[in-house]
Amino acid sequence: MELDPATRVVHAGERREAGEPSAPGIEIASAFLSSGVTPPGEYVYGRHGNATWEDLESALGELEEARALVFASGLAASFALLMALTEDRARVLMPGDGYFGVRRLAQMLAKRGIDAAAIDMGDLAGVERELAAQPCLLWGESPTNPFLRVLDLERLAKLAQQHGAHFVVDNTTATAALQRPLELGAHACVYSLTKSSSGHSDVVLGAVTTRDEKLLGRVREWRDNAGAIAGPFEAWVALRGLRTLPLRIERQSSSALAIARHLEQHPRVLHVHYPGIDEHTSTVALRQMRAGGPLLSFELDGTAADADAVVSAAKLIRPATSFGGVESSWERRARWKGESAPPSLIRLSVGIEAPRDLIADIDAALAGP
Ligand SMILES: *Cc1c(COP(=O)(O)O)cnc(C)c1O
Repeated sequence: MELDPATRVVHAGERREAGEPSAPGIEIASAFLSSGVTPPGEYVYGRHGNATWEDLESALGELEEARALVFASGLAASFALLMALTEDRARVLMPGDGYFGVRRLAQMLAKRGIDAAAIDMGDLAGVERELAAQPCLLWGESPTNPFLRVLDLERLAKLAQQHGAHFVVDNTTATAALQRPLELGAHACVYSLTKSSSGHSDVVLGAVTTRDEKLLGRVREWRDNAGAIAGPFEAWVALRGLRTLPLRIERQSSSALAIARHLEQHPRVLHVHYPGIDEHTSTVALRQMRAGGPLLSFELDGTAADADAVVSAAKLIRPATSFGGVESSWERRARWKGESAPPSLIRLSVGIEAPRDLIADIDAALAGP
């Protein structure tokens, strides 16, 4: 019987001989003794390979039956993938509400010949027109944040295939535990492991996953030569977190859905954004995702100052950016320059606390002083 990914991620990389440690150690060496010539698989120098990265990569690979490469951050992984997939084309299509840092990176590369356009990827006819006009790299992200918009990844993959476009998905928000874009036709996924995948707000790290060995080789070449490698300690911390990802995100998703439903009924809340709860995206979200994930956002009936007051009134939920940690956190998104969210929108990352305690904290914060 085929093992479930939730089982495989727990056992990935284990050695079952007597006397082996039951948890992997951390390989910190920067250089390895050499036999003169380098047979494949032999470690030589720390920038080219490390056993602790490979433990993490094998666990990431188990989650989506793919090969993985880890990087120093989600943006380092995005950069390598962007470089590898623009060797034969310059045009990059990104969602207008995708992760700000990736859009900014693509803009910075304009002087190096990359022509990035922010488009509405929910408009499939518009995407098709762009793809038909010239060879493209289609850079998807779903759900987006802070609006938690869901893109139809399977249909985007089909359009990409019809027009010879490369198609990648930033799967940071849903993670491989909830959504498997490679199975829907994406050539590669990119992750910030900083968020839910590691899950404890204590590491910055990224990864690329793919089933295409040639693409894997090209991305590895960028990592080897541009040098944005993971630290062994960070890789070890991320692996420890990843083992419990399926368990954490199941709890976070069910709590987030309960909180979204609760907020929909709250008199101070104008709109709630969560995958699967609005009529525009629910069918795609339910088909594409095992659950909605830890992130939701809501617009308060009030000003930016009102929203700031709510954020700082919480006793349990922490006022902080980032998401996917075991502890719940929230922030008013428009405090960031370049963020297009309405002034009173609060983004909440639901942790693994008891949902009852979170709802009580939210209600008290919304009730004011
Ligand atoms: C955080 C994030 C990134 C960037 O990752 P870092 O680890 O911060 O470099 C990329 N994409 C998404 C969707 C993110 O949330």
